[in-house]
Amino acid sequence: MAASETPGWPLAEDAPDTADLAKCVHCGLCVNACPTYAITGLEVESPRGRIHLARAVAEERIPLTEAVQGHWELCLQCRACEAVCPSGVPYGRIMERARAQLDAAPPSKGWERRLRRFALRNVIARPRVLAALLAPVRWFARSPLRGLLRRSGVLRFTGPLGRLEAQLGRPGRPYRPRDNAGDGDVALFTGCVMSELFGDAHRASMRVLERSGARAFAPRGQGCCGALSAHDGDLAQARRLARANIATFEASGAETIVVNSAGCGAAMKEYGELLAGDPDSADRAEAMAARVIDFSEYLAGRDLPAGRLEGRIAYQDACHLAHAQGISAEPRALLGALDGCELVETEGADMCCGAAGIYSLIQPAMSGELRARKAAQFREHKPDVIVTANPGCQMQYEAAVREAGIEARVLHLAEALDSE
Ligand code: SF4
Ligand code: SF4
Repeated sequence: MAASETPGWPLAEDAPDTADLAKCVHCGLCVNACPTYAITGLEVESPRGRIHLARAVAEERIPLTEAVQGHWELCLQCRACEAVCPSGVPYGRIMERARAQLDAAPPSKGWERRLRRFALRNVIARPRVLAALLAPVRWFARSPLRGLLRRSGVLRFTGPLGRLEAQLGRPGRPYRPRDNAGDGDVALFTGCVMSELFGDAHRASMRVLERSGARAFAPRGQGCCGALSAHDGDLAQARRLARANIATFEASGAETIVVNSAGCGAAMKEYGELLAGDPDSADRAEAMAARVIDFSEYLAGRDLPAGRLEGRIAYQDACHLAHAQGISAEPRALLGALDGCELVETEGADMCCGAAGIYSLIQPAMSGELRARKAAQFREHKPDVIVTANPGCQMQYEAAVREAGIEARVLHLAEALDSE
């Protein structure tokens, strides 16, 4: 898009598309689906309000002030609004591009943004650095020291570290692509944090895929999908990561790429959009996106022998599965086929839990409000097992279970289906 078409935006190249913004007819049908509107009751914290602000900036009716930036940064990018919009407003794309502008706008929280950017580029996107950093976290999660610190109450005073501790489950061994670089027809995407802290979910995914008849493998060389960077407005980094994954999965020869993390799957299905206009990668990105399929979507069309899981199961939709990919019936059907279980529907199961990538770290107040809503539902329904399909959500539910004061296990969908 030419700079002249987007006079109010500091970074014209990645500015929200005028045509995308113009699709919004301000009907307000999205407003009640929005978690931040549900909590605040404020129009500026609703999808319609945020689009209104973006249009006003684009048309130079208002400057890109700190207040405007704050309204966009409070958005969870859960895309619940997009799923219910009758006009097809691509809200996720608009918000990624609106956030891309913030680097060039007067910095309200400049150092925080720079620190975040540094961590996303130099830790999350580097498998060896990430592995080195998370090894002590895994040790701590299973050590007696953790219980001691919890009982002492000292974690309440450690800010983000205490919040992270509350979200930690009991991670098993990592599952890295180099552990399984054979061949087959179905490639499992293993991601970044998920392969380090949710190795059990990947191992369960492999077993379930194989039980369904797939020849599954995890190609070497894959890495972060880029979703966290894209949501943070770092589209250049998201594109770099997408290109690297495209090369890896092309070389793998796999016909199908199964993704068991909702956020990664949504991002990878949109690689074509992310790299549109890139002369070397646009077609390859479209081709890769067409090969990506969510774990439950893949299994829904196959003959999976039923496992067994005793107890009451509360399935919680991951936003990027339900809203961005339109997949909510498949996981429930797969869980419903398990022997011994009773599926319990909780109110607001499809509303964002407040994890939203790194949102729980940078917007703890809003994230906490949303987690408390989930905790209240868990307290009321007392499920034995809470199942979801995204690692960030799993972490948020670990904290919600503690907050609710109930005994419940939090499992990835693959772990639930792997139960016998
Ligand atoms: S985003 Fe869609 S649903 Fe929301 S106000 Fe605009 S047109 Fe209506
Ligand atoms: S993405 Fe989620 S939080 Fe953001 S405006 Fe839409 S519904 Fe609200």
